[in-house]
Amino acid sequence: MIDYGGDMAEKEYIVIEEAATIIAELKNKYPKILWAVEPSSVVTLGITNKEPPEGKKQPRRMAQIQKISPIMRAVLFHHGIHVIYTIEINMVDWMGWGPARRQWILLHEVSHIPALNEGGLVKHDVEDFAFMIEAEGVDWAIKENLPDLIHGDTYKFNEALVTRLHMKDEYVLEENADKK
Ligand SMILES: [Zn+2]
Repeated sequence: MIDYGGDMAEKEYIVIEEAATIIAELKNKYPKILWAVEPSSVVTLGITNKEPPEGKKQPRRMAQIQKISPIMRAVLFHHGIHVIYTIEINMVDWMGWGPARRQWILLHEVSHIPALNEGGLVKHDVEDFAFMIEAEGVDWAIKENLPDLIHGDTYKFNEALVTRLHMKDEYVLEENADKK
């Protein structure tokens, strides 16, 4: 069942260029956290023609990373575009976020990217990513005054918790099960 939120129109998107810059800067500043991420393989798309869904659960999903289907990847590769992942964000949300929240939410989404581009996406380890919860708490996504990851001091993430994410025997497919 697909929820169109009462509006049957197809979603329309624009590319959020700033997100690509943020992901590349995060990768530069946190190479031991984001070693599995190739920034050029990710495109962030903003929904321009719909309101964010009214979430019953808090925090509601704020962004969603998906792996492009093999057939679409083949078409894109044929045209020289090596995109593997899309991140979908509602533009109303994006415009309401300051620099730090944009960074933290993109950090969360790209942390779903597995070390090898095989199988699905990296599943949350504790209904989220432990390294982000340990850093800023279970409610980081709605917290005020998140630290700026790029322009402030380098954040001291627990790198062992990231390594653990990629040590599982197999990645569990998490195509549409994201909640943040
Ligand atoms: Zn997630």
